[in-house]
Amino acid sequence: MGEQPDVELSVSLGAADPDAVRAACQALAPLGTWVAAGGELGPKTTYRVGGRAAVLVTARSEADLVLVAAAAEASRLPVLVVGRGSNLLVADGGFGGIALLLDPAGFGAVTIDSSTVRAGGAVALPTLARQTVDAGLTGLEWAVGVPGSVGGGVRMNAGGHGSDIAHSLRHCRVADLGLRRGAQVEQWGVLDLRYGYRTSAIGLRHVVVDAEFALLPGDRDAGRETIRDIVRWRREHQPGGQNAGSVFTNPPGEPSADSAGWLIETAGCKGRRWGSAMVSPKHANFIQSDSGGSADDVRALMELVRIEVDRVHGITLHTEVRLIGFPPQPSMSGRDL
Ligand SMILES: Cc1cc2nc3c(=O)[nH]c(=O)nc-3n(C[C@H](O)[C@H](O)[C@H](O)COP(=O)(O)OP(=O)(O)OC[C@H]3O[C@@H](n4cnc5c(N)ncnc54)[C@H](O)[C@@H]3O)c2cc1C
Repeated sequence: MGEQPDVELSVSLGAADPDAVRAACQALAPLGTWVAAGGELGPKTTYRVGGRAAVLVTARSEADLVLVAAAAEASRLPVLVVGRGSNLLVADGGFGGIALLLDPAGFGAVTIDSSTVRAGGAVALPTLARQTVDAGLTGLEWAVGVPGSVGGGVRMNAGGHGSDIAHSLRHCRVADLGLRRGAQVEQWGVLDLRYGYRTSAIGLRHVVVDAEFALLPGDRDAGRETIRDIVRWRREHQPGGQNAGSVFTNPPGEPSADSAGWLIETAGCKGRRWGSAMVSPKHANFIQSDSGGSADDVRALMELVRIEVDRVHGITLHTEVRLIGFPPQPSMSGRDL
């Protein structure tokens, strides 16, 4: 699987063509109050910093996705699917495209039939972990520690504690918002997803509508104990507050290769600050934002860490966090490194 670019979508709110924004809003008009021109996007992420989207729309059904596809085609604006925003950093200057949210009322169902579990794209992974354990199944306990959605997890191949989505996903349904695709829904098997470490074949034009997992019968009490252990481990080893989990992916190599956290810590970056952003003193691969902080400070600190790790270890780190609305090349705004 090829490396994903660090900046996923580089168009800022200021760069959005007003005519294109009008065309998108016109195409989405049947959705009424579920569409907002200039809607707040940053606060919808776990970083809780960053700006607005040119158009923010919430889809309540697959039929609504057809309108979103029409809006994308009419305006040629880029579309960003937003799950629980736990792996996104939106620039202070916002995002000049259509940010699409999935409403849990339409995309939040979980059905369990023997050991087959179907979950909507908007279902929270921790909820799915607990529900499947309560149903006497095993395989998704690890997901209790990942504060994302099923859709975001399927795209990112989220994982932890020795497992990941690819381990138990059977297939998912994907709506294609691409030109002339009209939100056509297709079923993708796990091989179609071409899973790698935190990567998949799901692209920007794809919306994971729902997913089906094949789990195994398990012991309910043992599953609940595992969940308690994972939650305890996370509290002990990871900071709370405003962040998006691990900033950088671990460099490729054997499992024994040095983790991004170790590389950052031994490059002397733990606890480093840049304006309102700080490398967590608890876990060096987490960058925290202060309350009321700036996404551009977080981005600048990411770059500072990357430069230091490269200087000390000769290894280039790549972000796991998806960067939205930033220029492809980071600007340190003239501040001294
Ligand atoms: C405290 C903390 C701990 C974390 N720990 C882990 C961990 O242990 N393991 C791990 O893997 N991750 C971890 N993460 C990161 C994050 O939770 C995962 O990457 C998660 O899968 C992101 O899901 P999301 O719904 O929040 O996606 P978002 O952050 O909203 O989006 C992430 C990407 O997925 C895309 N996307 C979102 N929803 C859909 C959809 N329905 N269809 C298509 N594309 C979609 C977005 O466009 C974007 O490219 C952690 C984050 C935090 C804040």
